[in-house]
Amino acid sequence: MKQSIIDQFAHIVGEKYVKQSTSELLAYSYDATANFQRMPELVVSPADTAQISAIVKLCIQEKIAIIPRGSGSNLAAGTVPYNGGVVLLFNRMNRILDFDQDNLTITVQPGMITANICDYVEQHGLFYPPDPSSMKISTIGGNVSENSGGLRGLKYGVTKDYVRGLEAVLPNGEVITTGGKLAKDVAGYDLTSLLVGAEGTLGIITSITLKLIPLPRFKKTSIAYFSSLEHAAETVQEIIANKIIPVTLEFLDKKTIVAVEQFMHIGLSTDVEAMLLFEQDGDEVTVDKDIMTMTTIAKEKGATYTKIAEDEAQALQLKTARRVALSALSKLRPTLILEDATVPRSQLAEMVRRINIVADKYNVNIATFGHAGDGNLHPTCLTDVRDEQEMAQVEKALAEIFDGALQLGGTITGEHGVGEMKAPYLEWKLGEAGIAAMRAIKDALDPHHIMNPGKIFAKDTKKRVVVQFG
Ligand SMILES: Cc1cc2nc3c(=O)[nH]c(=O)nc-3n(C[C@H](O)[C@H](O)[C@H](O)COP(=O)(O)OP(=O)(O)OC[C@H]3O[C@@H](n4cnc5c(N)ncnc54)[C@H](O)[C@@H]3O)c2cc1C
Repeated sequence: MKQSIIDQFAHIVGEKYVKQSTSELLAYSYDATANFQRMPELVVSPADTAQISAIVKLCIQEKIAIIPRGSGSNLAAGTVPYNGGVVLLFNRMNRILDFDQDNLTITVQPGMITANICDYVEQHGLFYPPDPSSMKISTIGGNVSENSGGLRGLKYGVTKDYVRGLEAVLPNGEVITTGGKLAKDVAGYDLTSLLVGAEGTLGIITSITLKLIPLPRFKKTSIAYFSSLEHAAETVQEIIANKIIPVTLEFLDKKTIVAVEQFMHIGLSTDVEAMLLFEQDGDEVTVDKDIMTMTTIAKEKGATYTKIAEDEAQALQLKTARRVALSALSKLRPTLILEDATVPRSQLAEMVRRINIVADKYNVNIATFGHAGDGNLHPTCLTDVRDEQEMAQVEKALAEIFDGALQLGGTITGEHGVGEMKAPYLEWKLGEAGIAAMRAIKDALDPHHIMNPGKIFAKDTKKRVVVQFG
């Protein structure tokens, strides 16, 4: 990038908020996704919306790509530069702008860490439910842009269910506000929903108004172990069939349980095939009743052992077991590829079966855990990117897992987004007409294609081979 252009960025944000040396840029050449890395040309940290608007106008003029980046914890190569460009950070935009206990909303800047929002509102008896496992490191701007889910999604929904309004800088540099503190607002197209999950391709989110709800007064956590994956999956289906909607209904397979136990030493049983983690919240009577019913169902479906946490410390330990699953697995092989194939929850047992068939067929090491109640599984390939032969097998296996999920009425990604990684598969889910409709929106809002290029839309689509799973 020419020094004269770098000087203009420095003029907008201040010299000390521009990074340009190779060693500084290196940290922004990758994110949490395995096997994707490309250097940006510049990294800038704006202080406010006006500076972001000025940056966008400069980028249009000089035809420079903008890559908005929260914490870079996404798993779809969403923040890896595609062809140079400027990485835009929100580390100077991480404050609470407004906390409104009458309207039950909080308005925050995009760089705020999600767990800090949860902690803040809980001190006031309020609750922001979306809790991605990465909530202690990920930003709310990243969560909104990926429409992230979490462990509490089954009962409380995902990020989009709590976004009331946004302020955003469009790819033409104009600032818009959508929605607000209102519970109801149907004035025109729903631009809030359009920007949620747009992965930084339609604009830059500069402020977010979130809906809050009262903090539930009681909660209880329990676990159940199973000697077969199918019994665990059947338990999930039976719980829902009994019209119980727990806060959390999470699944860990044997490989994941063993990895977590080796990582944390918390006394998990490692001679089992699967573990379910349940949590319910609400009033004391309902919580007790639901936890007892879920435990009984688990036993009826073949659970070999069940345990209800005796206190909050024990509950936290059991939940941490699930939250650290990814970190624990990452210790086992040099590379970890985490997928999030998602199916209607009635197809959970079948999807688990298909993942195992594919793992055996290609001889790849796959551990599976995930948000069982949402049908959202995380088949996780433990591999090594330096081994080309193994990676070729991994790619074939993942393609068949996506195909298997789509055959069951599912999707290629339930919460991690498309980014660059899943872009070649998007047409499998949307069809040509679906892609064309999305491209029309992109072209209309971002005619210069400066906003996070190379994401969502792929140059080449992977050929889909429909697999017979028998
Ligand atoms: C250990 C681990 C556990 C995880 N657990 C979960 C989970 O349970 N559920 C889940 O859904 N995901 C999970 N993730 C994935 C990831 O944490 C989420 O996608 C998260 O929302 C990303 O937030 P971030 O701040 O890191 O965003 P980034 O990774 O920096 O960015 C994500 C996307 O948002 C865009 N973006 C960021 N900020 C803005 C902005 N202000 N305006 C416009 N676009 C913007 C970026 O361009 C990019 O496309 C996990 C990841 C890890 C590493």
